[in-house]
Amino acid sequence: MIELRGVDKWYGQHQVLKQCSTRVGKGEIVVVCGPSGSGKSTLIKTVNALEPFQKGDIVIDGTSLSAKGTDLPKLRTRVGMVFQHFELFPHLDVTRNLTLAQQIVLGRDIEAARAKARDLLDRVGLSAHAHKFPGQLSGGQQQRVAIARALSMDPMAMLFDEPTSALDPEMVNEVLDVMVQLAREGMTMMVVTHEMGFARRVAHRIVFMEDGAIIEDSPTGTFFQGATSPSAKRFLSKILPH
Ligand code: ADP
Ligand code: MG
Repeated sequence: MIELRGVDKWYGQHQVLKQCSTRVGKGEIVVVCGPSGSGKSTLIKTVNALEPFQKGDIVIDGTSLSAKGTDLPKLRTRVGMVFQHFELFPHLDVTRNLTLAQQIVLGRDIEAARAKARDLLDRVGLSAHAHKFPGQLSGGQQQRVAIARALSMDPMAMLFDEPTSALDPEMVNEVLDVMVQLAREGMTMMVVTHEMGFARRVAHRIVFMEDGAIIEDSPTGTFFQGATSPSAKRFLSKILPH
């Protein structure tokens, strides 16, 4: 579904992605982890064509991001993205946050868009909040709305960039539970997170990045039992005791 082939990216002189290659099969869950500044956000943004790259290629469901003529905005609508900060429209209620792009981008009529919104709010446990504004919801609830909004576009894959990092601890699980449910339903997912319990439970593979390079790409069990690189071992020893 998603394939990165030797992706290089520079910001000016600074190389932030170095020969990054990996693939995420249909229905596969891949967790991306690594120290701050290692390039995780950049990597995930290049997959959604929010950031250009200079070398290599990324292929999404058979479509090359670097090929001439690829409609990047259209492709972007097919890949859902959830950020650390929810980025909901503050002046629109929850339902409108979920119907707007369905109408404008997908051309759905308002009744169909509302029906979809109702269904998704039910799935993320927020039916009772359909007419509230984002500012009236907790961080965990807002992030679940953001996930529902991404799902309203019927994405073929979902990308998450530290979706729980900005949340108070008591709200982390309600968001992870929605993600676990999505994973169980067979969604293809690439998730940047430090939630190693979640990774262990649902990820098929773990990608570990350091200094712009993917230095481990292993099945989850292998990664937790015996990460081979010293830096991955160091990372795990810092993160797991907590
Ligand atoms: P991570 O998500 O793993 O913390 P990032 O992908 O955010 O890492 O950043 C990787 C590197 O790219 C860092 O050195 C960061 O300073 C740099 N970087 C990120 N965004 C920009 C930008 N817009 N301009 C220049 N450098 C950037
Ligand atoms: Mg980041």
